[in-house]
Amino acid sequence: MKYSGFDRKLTNSGIAFLTDEPMKKHITFKLGGNAKRFLTVKNEAELSLVLSAVKENKLAYFILGNGSNMLVSDEGFDGVVITLGGEFSEIKLMDSETISCGAGASLSSLCAFARKNSLSGLEFAWGIPGSAGGAAYMNAGAYGGEMKDVLSLCEHMDLNGEKGVYKAEELELSYRKSAYTNKDLIITKLILKLKKGDYEEINAKMAELMEKRKSKQPLEYPSAGSTFKRPEGYFAAALIEECGLKGEHVGDAEVSVKHSGFIINKGNATCSDVLSLIEKVKEKVKEMKNVELECEVKLLK
Ligand SMILES: Cc1cc2nc3c(=O)[nH]c(=O)nc-3n(C[C@H](O)[C@H](O)[C@H](O)COP(=O)(O)OP(=O)(O)OC[C@H]3O[C@@H](n4cnc5c(N)ncnc54)[C@H](O)[C@@H]3O)c2cc1C
Repeated sequence: MKYSGFDRKLTNSGIAFLTDEPMKKHITFKLGGNAKRFLTVKNEAELSLVLSAVKENKLAYFILGNGSNMLVSDEGFDGVVITLGGEFSEIKLMDSETISCGAGASLSSLCAFARKNSLSGLEFAWGIPGSAGGAAYMNAGAYGGEMKDVLSLCEHMDLNGEKGVYKAEELELSYRKSAYTNKDLIITKLILKLKKGDYEEINAKMAELMEKRKSKQPLEYPSAGSTFKRPEGYFAAALIEECGLKGEHVGDAEVSVKHSGFIINKGNATCSDVLSLIEKVKEKVKEMKNVELECEVKLLK
């Protein structure tokens, strides 16, 4: 009943959607319940139509990128999960040092595109398993670089289908935060300013950073990367290790032995296992180190 108006509008417009879609198929942690509706929009007209259907039917919605910084509750999400595909995955060169990238493109395609055009500045992002939109939203960063260094503009759409733009200074990019954090705006496109570089040097830097990731991170298990933000003046992983929490687990959720900053899913972890483990870690670190850890991973419920 709740979804009948929404379903009718999308069906009449020829937009396909899935019902009771298991979210574990769409997030890198590979856990959580179902989304009542799940769909991929191919262009701005479709996005605008879906948002109007969401609004008219007073439904909850969530924009999912690559699901690499996400937990989804075991009860699932009573709403519409929207992902960006089609034209939102296009990456183009605008001039010799400027790239236009749809928010649905993967960060890895964007980095590979920059490398192909001998453009330097995105090497740090090679290996971050997100979408371009998710990377802008989170101001993703690694190895001394962050999206802030390369983003010159983002385009977005609001729930009324109105398009807007945030220039670099309006993006308010800081540690894992942007002007989009907790706002009802959908990032649709990124404009990035890079520098002409040397293909071989760019390629070598990317390979070096990927090697570092492979040797330090438990990439063989599902996870959402670093579970906690870096507390001012500390490293979360070091604090967790010093508190003797390496290998600590709740069900199949485990503080990785390889990298204590990661909580991994060893097989059949539930969202509630991960949340209990997060609480356990936070409590112990507060008790032993008097430091409050803050979660980096987002929860959809
Ligand atoms: C193995 C591993 C390693 C990682 N390493 C790093 C790292 O080195 N550095 C780092 O910063 N992160 C890292 N991450 C975390 C994650 O990849 C980043 O946070 C990434 O930017 C998330 O992008 P996403 O597309 O997967 O976003 P999602 O996880 O899908 O979503 C994250 C948030 O962004 C919002 N969002 C996504 N797309 C849009 C959009 N188009 N418009 C509006 N909001 C949007 C979502 O609503 C959600 O709130 C790692 C994760 C894993 C699994």
